[in-house]
Amino acid sequence: MSEPAPAVETTVAGSLPKPSWLARPQQLWAPWQLAGEQLAEGKRDAVRAALKMQEAAGIDIVSEGEQSRMHFVHGFLRGIEGVDFARMKRIGIRADRYEADCPTVTGPVRRPRPVHADEVRFARANTGRKLKFTLPGPMTMVDTLADEHYRDRAALGLALAGLLNAEAQELAALGVDVIQFDEPAFNVYMNEVRDWGIAALERAAAGLACATAVHICYGYGIKANIEWKKTLGGAWRQYESTFPLLAKSTIRQVSLECANSHVPLALIGLLEGKDVLVGAIDVATDAVETPEQVAATLRAALKYVKPGHLYGCTNCGMAPMARPVAEAKLKALAAGAAIVRRELAG
Ligand code: ZN
Repeated sequence: MSEPAPAVETTVAGSLPKPSWLARPQQLWAPWQLAGEQLAEGKRDAVRAALKMQEAAGIDIVSEGEQSRMHFVHGFLRGIEGVDFARMKRIGIRADRYEADCPTVTGPVRRPRPVHADEVRFARANTGRKLKFTLPGPMTMVDTLADEHYRDRAALGLALAGLLNAEAQELAALGVDVIQFDEPAFNVYMNEVRDWGIAALERAAAGLACATAVHICYGYGIKANIEWKKTLGGAWRQYESTFPLLAKSTIRQVSLECANSHVPLALIGLLEGKDVLVGAIDVATDAVETPEQVAATLRAALKYVKPGHLYGCTNCGMAPMARPVAEAKLKALAAGAAIVRRELAG
């Protein structure tokens, strides 16, 4: 008989703050502070530091902290033909919640060579822990592009999903334990999720030998998102239409926002059979959770998910946070999960 999976492992949504010598701190799309070979070396040093920070904090499934990409969507797209970064266009994204400078799709998308393989090889060689690698989800990519070629969000999304799948297959073969697709757009365009979003996500994840995850959140802790959340009312039910679709999908893990959010935890019950990565760390405040607060969030989730399927996670990426705050929050996450693990062990 196989041993049951250890209960309540911890992981991160994905990104971690970059060192200030690598990129301007506490800012999205932060410009690099280095260039050329110094930049390449700086990225590798930052990955070592990010892995060490997570290991020292006690995180079980670590990531390279997205230290090598300027932004979680545009990092992958920089390696894609048909996407022109010389033609940036300011557009409203996430249903016009905020504006961003986005590259233009000018022709059929194609992945001429691996994009993240070297980063994964390096991270894999520098940690013995289980390794997660994040890629942008197809719908979130579509939503962060100015498309002048396909002019059809589903068609572009499905095309990108094919490229993501080829990339993900190679990364899994390099020893990644979890490939996660980040789909904050799934909390914005619920009809599109049903019409083509789930199909595109499944195409991106098709046939992967490693675990697959999707991260759906209410965004980074930036002003535009904090203002948006104020308009969502007392009970955030965005997950309600999406989770039943994900429960039927091939994706194994779902990462969601719980700490300090107005998400009714009962919605977790809609993810029957899936691993649930419960966000127990708020990335929109510098106030560091206590281990007991983390434990309380995880305990509350246990009403709706079996212990072997529960993971402690951050609400979202920590890229825009101050580094010492992120470090303290990761320690609290691991300590809080340890409390719950001890309780479950009786
Ligand atoms: Zn997120």
